[in-house]
Amino acid sequence: MSKYVASIPLGDIDRIRIYINSGKLPLRQIVAQEAPDLAITGNFWLYGSYQPTCPIKVDGKVLATDAYHYPALIWDTGPDISMGIVPPGGACGKMNYIANSAGLYQGKPETMYCNPDVRGRRGRTGWGFCGGALAFIAFPDGSDGMEPEELRDYVQGLGWSDCIMGDGGRKVNYYNRSTGDMVQGRDPSQNLILVYKRKRAPSEPDDSDKEDKPMSTKYTVCLDPGHGPDTVNGSPDGSYKEREFTWDMYTRIRPLLERHGVNVICTRTEDTKPSLTARCEVSNRAGADLFVSLHSNAEGGSGWGTARGLLVYTSSGPMTAKRNVAATAIVNRAHEAEVLLHGSGVAHQIEYTVLAKTDAPAVLIEYGFHTNMEDVDLLKNSSYRDKLAEATAMGVCDFLGIAWAVESGGDDTDTPAADWAAEAWQKAKSNGVMDGTRPTDPITRQELAVVLNRLNLI
Ligand SMILES: [Zn+2]
Repeated sequence: MSKYVASIPLGDIDRIRIYINSGKLPLRQIVAQEAPDLAITGNFWLYGSYQPTCPIKVDGKVLATDAYHYPALIWDTGPDISMGIVPPGGACGKMNYIANSAGLYQGKPETMYCNPDVRGRRGRTGWGFCGGALAFIAFPDGSDGMEPEELRDYVQGLGWSDCIMGDGGRKVNYYNRSTGDMVQGRDPSQNLILVYKRKRAPSEPDDSDKEDKPMSTKYTVCLDPGHGPDTVNGSPDGSYKEREFTWDMYTRIRPLLERHGVNVICTRTEDTKPSLTARCEVSNRAGADLFVSLHSNAEGGSGWGTARGLLVYTSSGPMTAKRNVAATAIVNRAHEAEVLLHGSGVAHQIEYTVLAKTDAPAVLIEYGFHTNMEDVDLLKNSSYRDKLAEATAMGVCDFLGIAWAVESGGDDTDTPAADWAAEAWQKAKSNGVMDGTRPTDPITRQELAVVLNRLNLI
């Protein structure tokens, strides 16, 4: 039976919000954009109008009411969340509530009111309380489908005191950052509950990106040369094999990092191909500070394609998360080295195992497309590989706060700003308006948008 259950103590909650999915976005995209710790389908909505049908209030605005009393999740910001009753008309002192078909209220089973069209044994979601903690459950569609009452009885068996059945059927959308679970329904949810956990103090253990280490501690970076001996990925003309490239890149990056005092570990040997989960375990056991997976990209289809450039994947936003700080550092160094980027150079993919199941901040670098003739010529070139390896190691050192030591009198790429701009440049860096790299480069339109946004001008 595939089911997904989560419970979050109220003390761990920073905030809870209802996300109105007016763009009809798939869950993966919502997670990438909004970066919640947990997301789950909200309440019923009408196919025709795309409007919710049960009581819901979002940030002080009532979006739907009904003529009955509804048990609901009710809160102002999130840590204060409780089960309560929303009266007919929806008047309620709190900023947010969400109701649907209630199954349990204060330990007692409720008669579950729902229309025949939402009955049947189908995928279900539920939200409520168990042992005083906020609790969530999701059953995907398929053989494990349930009638509403079966869901109620099931969670009562788990010890839940309160349960509201959310929307289900083809709209079971559920994500849990700490377990890496992502269940995406065939249809989007019109609204979702997003939970954000409290940021932990540095002294507390952290279950996501690691906290800063004291300067005296040696950093450990786990390099993951993608694939292995029997992997066939390569260029359409057979002149390039991804598995050889990834191993070769590992052998080039490793000494650069070690020269800077970094302890480097590797997920495999040249002649082995461990599972993706096993690769994560190597990193997790070592308590790595950063996980870097090395790959080259492929466009769909069997022949040559047009897609080009370097792209670094992380599991999800926000861009201030350590994994994205690391990805941005690597991309900036690659850009400085005049490596062509694919799009902005950073993208998110929550479903990559090595990004989701690593404890350390994790990035996956696609150095270029081996399905593109120009890219593959570069990827086969030894001095280009050196350039990629150096940009990677420099970005990793930037992320770890290690000053890059030029080996033999080469150029220092970290050019200071010109005198006339020095003061403004310093201000922009120290206020976080700009990241302090590439002082003399032209600015792209998306970089300009980010700057305007940081200045609250848009
Ligand atoms: Zn690959």
